[in-house]
Amino acid sequence: MQTPIERIGFIGLGAMGFPMARRLLQTGKYGLTVLDVDPARVQPLEADGAKTADTPRAVAEQSDLVVTMLPNSPEVEMVMFGADGVVAGLAEGKIVIDMSTIDPSVTRTVAEEVAAKSAFMLDAPVGRTSFHAQSGELLIMVGGEADLLAHCRSVLENFGKDIIHCGAVSSGGTMKLVNNILTTTIIAANAEALVLGAKVGLDTECMLNVLRSTAASNTHLTSTYAAQALAGNVKPGFAIKLAEKDVGLALKMARDNDVPIHLADSTRALLREAKESGHADHDYTSLLYLLESKAGVTVREEKTEA
Ligand code: NAD
Repeated sequence: MQTPIERIGFIGLGAMGFPMARRLLQTGKYGLTVLDVDPARVQPLEADGAKTADTPRAVAEQSDLVVTMLPNSPEVEMVMFGADGVVAGLAEGKIVIDMSTIDPSVTRTVAEEVAAKSAFMLDAPVGRTSFHAQSGELLIMVGGEADLLAHCRSVLENFGKDIIHCGAVSSGGTMKLVNNILTTTIIAANAEALVLGAKVGLDTECMLNVLRSTAASNTHLTSTYAAQALAGNVKPGFAIKLAEKDVGLALKMARDNDVPIHLADSTRALLREAKESGHADHDYTSLLYLLESKAGVTVREEKTEA
């Protein structure tokens, strides 16, 4: 039997987790306990009334539901397992929702450990950006039992109203990797086309007018590129290092399932090169800058801000 949700724990207060945790706090409906390895991420929420805890285990002991929003699989394993981990602090009926984008096979291992404590787990990675995390308009891809999702829906609705049930636990993460292999490949294709056009002498405004009005049009040309790389803004949105991680996880999933993948292999190589040449923490549209410097041309007119 699932515990009624009155106290929520939130671990991982980064670009996504911080605004999500703050939204929970602002409802005034839940007692919130927060944890991050970076104290600067914790302090503003503590000042607004959140409790803090020293270990993931202590967060779980003080919560009916624990949400995690961490960078990648190793961080999720570190937070979940071991003497001070979330799983060690779970009592019967408690709930874990991991919203990080990680390897789905790691999600299944975590879910087994959670079930061994007679507790429950959903995986619920998100689509869209940190701006949508602030406004509560994320898209949430959920894996796990339908009745557990129904029990947790009112909590998830604080993060986004588009909640899509994808199947058994780990299928949210599997869906997320399929989503991101496509979106990062589109990001890379935009950068290649714009840099080629600039190099052969096309005016940027002309290119954007045409490309946004034909079958080449895609949301990145009008949203992310417009707000970020084309405006000289490298602040992530979605960091190159995280995009590279996601394509790597998707390629691993493809290999494990004998699925040939061609385009996304090149996308990953580009993202890796961008990561290693100083763009790791820049928005993923900064792929444009890598290709600009290789081609010796500038697409954008504005100067880059640090
Ligand atoms: P981030 O790097 O900004 O935040 C991660 C946070 O986790 C940091 O504050 C870090 O200090 C904390 N952390 C790391 N290890 C920890 C540990 N052991 N214990 C406690 N805290 C720890 O990352 P983000 O952009 O918030 O992304 C989080 C997840 O969401 C990632 O899996 C990412 O792929 C996914 N995602 C991000 C976006 C985006 O636009 N940023 C969009 C969709 C999905």
